[in-house]
Amino acid sequence: MPELPEVEITMRKLAPKILRRKIISFYSDWPRGLHSHYSLDKLSKDLRGRKILRLSRIGKVIFLHLSGQNSPRIAFHQRMSGRLLILDDSDFTVNAKHIRIKLGLSGSKILAFVDPRKFGIMWYGSSEHLDKYSYLQKLGPDALSLSKKYFYNALNNKRIGIKAFLLRQDILAGVGNIVADEVLWEAKINPQLKSNSLSINQKNSLFLAIKKVLKRSIALGGSSMRDWVHPDQDRGSYQDNWRAYGRAGKKCFRCGTILKRAIIAGRGTVFCVHCQK
Ligand SMILES: [Zn+2]
Repeated sequence: MPELPEVEITMRKLAPKILRRKIISFYSDWPRGLHSHYSLDKLSKDLRGRKILRLSRIGKVIFLHLSGQNSPRIAFHQRMSGRLLILDDSDFTVNAKHIRIKLGLSGSKILAFVDPRKFGIMWYGSSEHLDKYSYLQKLGPDALSLSKKYFYNALNNKRIGIKAFLLRQDILAGVGNIVADEVLWEAKINPQLKSNSLSINQKNSLFLAIKKVLKRSIALGGSSMRDWVHPDQDRGSYQDNWRAYGRAGKKCFRCGTILKRAIIAGRGTVFCVHCQK
């Protein structure tokens, strides 16, 4: 599943291709993935003629801010297998497989939401409407712009396993299973510890590790596994630089101990029993 780094890359690469373009058509063959107070027909009509003014991101959600009445936004969550691609009208038929949503844009461009497994979501509406969707309304501060004060308070107040804590999108938005395992390895913290039991040094290490891992992954273009590619169909290379995720049974890069895999917070978790205390 694309996590914060992959969604950040998606946003950065989409921006120069779609900003200031006008929406001229809308198509979807998967209405169940559309969350809006409008019917499909009305949604399509309401979108037409609006310009894409700005892009923003919170956690794993990308927002397209549109012009016109009510300043509505489109929000995309790529979930398991979704990806956003920019296509030219001319190469559209070649790449048409698994396209769930298609926004025809001025200048003969198409913004396509490709999603083989159909778990992805598109929301549409004004801020007032979007606030009615609990996932969006509860979304915590973005993990990349997290303040130390907020983070320390949340650690003290939640009293849950640290792995579960990192994955909770309402506490901090954007961390998924890859980033969580990498962050805990980087901070030398055992994923089974309770969030409120961390020492002040561990809290500080964890805070720094979140920023470090996210920035490193973004710099390497994110992790391209199975389905996920950039909007221009490039691939990331963070998967070649993982220290913990996907490395069960291999040697820890720090101490040489064989990394262990366990189910923690309901997710496969890889960690070093020797150096993650
Ligand atoms: Zn180790």
